[in-house]
Amino acid sequence: MNTPSSPLPPAVDHLDLDTMPAGTISRRRLNMVADGLGRPVRMPLLIARGVKPGPVLGITAAVHGNELNGIPVVHALLKGLNLQRLAGTVLAVPAVNVPGLLEQQREFNDDRDLNHLFPGRADGTGAQVWAWRFLDRVVRRVDYLVDLHTASFGRVNSLYVRADMSDPVVANMARLQQPQIIVHNPPADGTLRGAAAALAIPAITVELKDPHRFQIGVIKKSVLGIRRLMASLGMIAPSKLPSLEPPALCQSSYWIYTPVGGLLSVLPEVTERVTAGEVVARVRDVYGDLVLEHRAPEDGIVIGKSVNPVAQTGARVLHLGLVDDGAGEESAR
Ligand SMILES: [Zn+2]
Repeated sequence: MNTPSSPLPPAVDHLDLDTMPAGTISRRRLNMVADGLGRPVRMPLLIARGVKPGPVLGITAAVHGNELNGIPVVHALLKGLNLQRLAGTVLAVPAVNVPGLLEQQREFNDDRDLNHLFPGRADGTGAQVWAWRFLDRVVRRVDYLVDLHTASFGRVNSLYVRADMSDPVVANMARLQQPQIIVHNPPADGTLRGAAAALAIPAITVELKDPHRFQIGVIKKSVLGIRRLMASLGMIAPSKLPSLEPPALCQSSYWIYTPVGGLLSVLPEVTERVTAGEVVARVRDVYGDLVLEHRAPEDGIVIGKSVNPVAQTGARVLHLGLVDDGAGEESAR
């Protein structure tokens, strides 16, 4: 335990995994940028290096600063490792978007969305420089990447994975998470997942339910999913892990938006199936009269939904996944 008198982990400009002692978990604070008073802003890193050689698995959390379920996933995963038996290294970042986390917001502290800005720019805006240096100093060190997210404020998600299912390595990573839903989604420009894929690092995005809270059930499931992946990579011994229901595989997905403003109620819960024509949401005006019924445009599964009743024109209503064999190209981030 860190007490006030314990020294803080070493601050470093770069990360050299080969210098990390085997059989231990090292902590580092990586210098990223300086604030307006010239104080360094640092990214916390946990490096679990096994005694045997093996791949480097990157686990990243809180790229969006209000998406927190991934943080205890990192803690529980590392706590459960037997470092004397671990083959390879887990490089874990409990909080990628440090300024956003401190501001309790999704975006970086210049209000830009980091996950639209990758690979960033060495000479760009604050968020672009942060993305660039994170990619250069951390992500390039890993062989596989699992990026942990949640829904945004005002919305809830299922436990689902976005992955390029046309890549067999990536598809296997996704299936091993045993999520409720997998959405086939070739990495879109600007995401961390896309930037990793461009570096030939197989990567998946795991959505762990709801924003700005710790949800113990999904945290435990995510730890098990990552352990299944580690066993598959030969990093830990396979163990008898509970097998869940097979995920619904969606070839594509899209958000339904409301064309009218008002007070929104979304009827189905996440992971529920809906059929074409079914009423999925109602918008009422402030006097209580019904303004609009939203009907499902086609059969699908509810990946995520709004839980914020105050909906302006254009507000998100429901994230619909299409569980079929047809090729789709619509994506949602
Ligand atoms: Zn996110």
